[in-house]
Amino acid sequence: MEELKQEIIDVCKKLGEKGLLVRTWGNVSCRVDKNTFLITSSGIKYEDLTTNNIIEVKIKDLSYKGDILPSSEKAVHAACYRVRPECNFIIHTHQVYATVAGTLGLKKIKTFDQNDSRVVIPVASYALPGTDKLAENVARRVRKYPENKGFIMANHGTVCLGADSEEALQVALDLEVMCSNFLIDNCKTDMRHCIQKGFCSHLENGEIVYDHNDTPLGIRRIHEYIYSKRPDVNYIIHNKSEAIMTVSRRANHLRPLLDDFAQLVGFSVKIPSRDDGHERGSVHVKKNCNAVFAFNDGAFCLGATEEDASAVALILDKGCIAHTAVMRFGEGHYLSVLDCIRMNRHYKKSYSKLADNK
Ligand SMILES: [Zn+2]
Repeated sequence: MEELKQEIIDVCKKLGEKGLLVRTWGNVSCRVDKNTFLITSSGIKYEDLTTNNIIEVKIKDLSYKGDILPSSEKAVHAACYRVRPECNFIIHTHQVYATVAGTLGLKKIKTFDQNDSRVVIPVASYALPGTDKLAENVARRVRKYPENKGFIMANHGTVCLGADSEEALQVALDLEVMCSNFLIDNCKTDMRHCIQKGFCSHLENGEIVYDHNDTPLGIRRIHEYIYSKRPDVNYIIHNKSEAIMTVSRRANHLRPLLDDFAQLVGFSVKIPSRDDGHERGSVHVKKNCNAVFAFNDGAFCLGATEEDASAVALILDKGCIAHTAVMRFGEGHYLSVLDCIRMNRHYKKSYSKLADNK
């Protein structure tokens, strides 16, 4: 059993190195036998994983051993092990291109693999994360496409099945290449997912410390304004990635296309127009929104810690790639406000639970 646990940790590390697993977003499991599987625990960063955080779960009723909560997506994993007896390893990621392809409202992604052969990637319909409905939707797709090993969960991420860890890992990597090809061909989108830092700052003893001494006055005013309106914020990362710059120039409103965006960035992000320029009053600073756009100058990503602000900067970038892909594709499936509210409530509750446990 210890060996299998270590294998899960090794795979998480590999996924991290390839950029497919960031922070706590995603989870990995391994079948032990007909009735049981091992899965990563809920809300732990893959860098901090030890064998204690790999939890034994029963396939039949999702009951688990010990006091540590298994991943909230355990039902999705259990459903796949039920439908596919030959599957022994499952990886769930929020990897960028496959996840973005899953926001276009398509039931399947038709694209090409590395050898230029035609492939179909099935997309499971949207349901709130952690629900039985989501597990049902995934199971239905996995049953309908018995030959497929890589699946997309609409507006959320991927499910990659393998006879062993190596195969599941390869499925995740292949999905990313194939979905990137799809986005280039159908959405004219080949944006690199990144944080491109502009003018960042943080608070030290109540004083604003800028990363760059030459931070322009107009931008300093925005930082001052954000800190004055948001006492919970200590770090501001100015992200000027290609996707965020494009959105800051062209859009006036961002609605969530992705679960992690709704959870971390906000339900509705306003973008100032050309006339608003860089005036501090023209940027929209709201309590429940961790991204503040400036016209044609990217977005300021807010966090209590530097890590939180980086997480917002990454998720915002992915959200802007998705927004651009949907605009160029001409259609997409947005999350409903009601689902966003429900998800946020659940997300905050489960995170405060985790904090309490510490
Ligand atoms: Zn997920």
